[in-house]
Amino acid sequence: MAKLILKNVYKRYDNNKKKNKKQNDYAVNDYSLECKDGEFIGILGPSGCGKTTTLRMIAGLEDITSGDIFIGETKVNDLHPKERHIGLAFEDYALYPPLNVYDNIAFNLRAKKVNEEDIHKEIMRIAPILKVDDLLDSRPVGLSGGQKQRVNIARAIVRKPKLLLLDEPLSHLDGKMRQVLRTEIKRLHKEIKCTTIIVTHDQLEAMSLADRIAIMKDGKLQQFGSPLEVYDNPVNEFVAGFIGEPPMNLMTVDITKQDNELFFDFKGSDVRIGVPKRYQSIVKEGMTVKLGVRPTDLLIGNEASKGSKVKVAVFENLGEERRISIRVGQEFLTLITTEEIRYKQGDIIKLEVNAEKTHLFDIK
Ligand code: ADP
Ligand code: MG
Repeated sequence: MAKLILKNVYKRYDNNKKKNKKQNDYAVNDYSLECKDGEFIGILGPSGCGKTTTLRMIAGLEDITSGDIFIGETKVNDLHPKERHIGLAFEDYALYPPLNVYDNIAFNLRAKKVNEEDIHKEIMRIAPILKVDDLLDSRPVGLSGGQKQRVNIARAIVRKPKLLLLDEPLSHLDGKMRQVLRTEIKRLHKEIKCTTIIVTHDQLEAMSLADRIAIMKDGKLQQFGSPLEVYDNPVNEFVAGFIGEPPMNLMTVDITKQDNELFFDFKGSDVRIGVPKRYQSIVKEGMTVKLGVRPTDLLIGNEASKGSKVKVAVFENLGEERRISIRVGQEFLTLITTEEIRYKQGDIIKLEVNAEKTHLFDIK
């Protein structure tokens, strides 16, 4: 177990011949992160944003262009991967087909000349934690994806690493197995208490597993915080749109004024809401701003409601919740409710907005 620190880490691939050099010059760009001892960190971002590169630099599989990485108190920039005491599990399980599960897990320990008795003890300790104790005699070819990934993770933690690095460990698994193994990984972390970093492009995975999430875009860290922090207070439009399913509604609104009161005026519609107090000193009449509202903060008003009339474009009953796509001006907004309601396309509803829960972005 150890803490992990990344300080102004950059990575440029010398063979990167991308045309758009300015934006994509660095695969990882000025990345700083501090993970506490025993913490579970999620690195989250779209494909190509630099997650795997970051993980490979931590593991020592990729050179750092500049910056420093510390594991515990040790600066590891120049340390060989083997000297970093890291457990690694990538998305493709990379098990040795001729070896059974026991020998696969034992492989790296044997390479390190650990004696057979200690190897046996260690495998017997780890196997039940990952529920592979019944599979020890099996060959990889007969295993399901979920079982292979369990063996892969068992192999990664068998050496009691200081850091466990998981790169998209669930991405090859189907829906149900993904959920099962996700829960298992969470339990595993609680049991072995190893500082763990999981790389994923799936926000739900990061939200459910990690103590804190580092959200990346184009090689740069956008926000680092607890799942609740990044959900409730996204620092920019990108994070707002990336966290939450369905994502936050983002729309362009005009700031208007009437009777000395400021309003967010939804373009091309009657919908307008009072600007909440916390934004009143930030916006001025005549400005155009980007406003974000979570689908659960759009509400349907009753008969007496002062909300504006809008049209239902799509109504979906998803069992536990209902999703309504509503047309507001040129844009479609998503509303989610758990109320037992039923609408059809073209119905008129009164839209209310929980103004206190709105988010402002890109204020110039
Ligand atoms: P992610 O894991 O988030 O999908 P990667 O770290 O794999 O992203 O890639 C980040 C960027 O670096 C991408 O633009 C990718 O094309 C580039 N890249 C990754 N590996 C190499 C490599 N070995 N050589 C050149 N460019 C690479
Ligand atoms: Mg990757």
